Amino acid sequence: MPSPESPGFPVVLDLAGRRVLVVGGGEAATANCRLLAASGAEVHVLAPNPAPALARLAGVAVHHRVFVPADLDGADLCYVALENPAEARAVVAAARARGVLVNAVDRPALSNVATPAAPPMPRRQAAGGARPREGRATLVGAGPGDADLLTLAALRAIREADVILYDALVGPEARGFARRDATQINVGKRCGRHLMSQEAINRLIIAHVRAGARVVRLKGGDPFVFGRGGEEAEALRAAGLSIEVIPGVTAALAVAARLGIPLTHRSVSCSLHLLSAHSRDGALPEHDWSALAATGGTLAVYMGARTLPALAERLMAAGMAPSTPAVAMENATLPEERRIDGTLASIGARLLAASLTGPTLALIGEVVGLAAVEPEGLHDAA
Ligand code: SAH
Repeated sequence: MPSPESPGFPVVLDLAGRRVLVVGGGEAATANCRLLAASGAEVHVLAPNPAPALARLAGVAVHHRVFVPADLDGADLCYVALENPAEARAVVAAARARGVLVNAVDRPALSNVATPAAPPMPRRQAAGGARPREGRATLVGAGPGDADLLTLAALRAIREADVILYDALVGPEARGFARRDATQINVGKRCGRHLMSQEAINRLIIAHVRAGARVVRLKGGDPFVFGRGGEEAEALRAAGLSIEVIPGVTAALAVAARLGIPLTHRSVSCSLHLLSAHSRDGALPEHDWSALAATGGTLAVYMGARTLPALAERLMAAGMAPSTPAVAMENATLPEERRIDGTLASIGARLLAASLTGPTLALIGEVVGLAAVEPEGLHDAA
């Protein structure tokens, strides 16, 4: 529930002083506990290894052990946030047997209670108005990692959000500006380890907006540069919802700034090309290599940690000089930042040799030779 056959019935529970059980101690459990803590309920979390953030929530008692059915005695409501489906089913069965309302996170078929994204009674209701607040979606670029590179508009949106759906590339610092009771959902994926499909993400955004939440879709860099922001904007528009877009500092700009490389420079480079080195199936996309080699401009290569050697080969085969300066940077603007210097001929092998694990961007072109600044706290991996 809810489903078209059983749409359910919205109610608001007064949970002040009531016992609420949360089984599980991960991210979903923490998000629910944040909301529950604000309700005045007496919240009990059962998890052998609870997330540290849980211990910091007022009104939430954390028990470092597994659930036993007797924990449900006297409870009015139970949240089940367990990854293992069999374990989740067992808790749900115990709750139902005792007549305790139960919500199994991300398992609507098991639940007889659904939690709207935003409380039906808005916290900041306009005076005299009983109208439910309208939800909205904002696609926000979080920049390359350093929270100082967030825009003021991004900061404002994060602070106001009821629900934040964030990617793997978004650092904890940016999310730290969220309200304590905001629900934060990790929908990120790294290197093919998908946490959630794009369709599922689109559906989630739409569902939260329809429930009246101010939803921030937080993405690394800029949402419209290799960020699938376009697909999410389309899905929202198709659902009849509007979307605001707040741009972010894209990785190419961050890397250039860290290294003091002007991306364009009179008489050296008068164009900048943003390339993806990773297509849907993980292979190198088929760019027009001759055209790229002939521009004489600066190439910024995204998602090239594995495919940069092949990309460099193609450019050289298309006539770009092997001696063209090139540089790659991993985790730009973050404390773990690393730089790898080279030329078009050497950068691919050096990149592989450095066994990078973080996001890496490469710049190729004569402007790389103009790198003037040795950024502070940087060590050379080459
Ligand atoms: N929307 C993002 C790009 C997402 S695609 C943006 O505008 O920056 C992911 C790629 O972005 C990574 O493979 C890497 O090439 C680049 N990237 C993102 N953050 C980075 C960082 N801090 N340092 C280096 N490259 C980064």
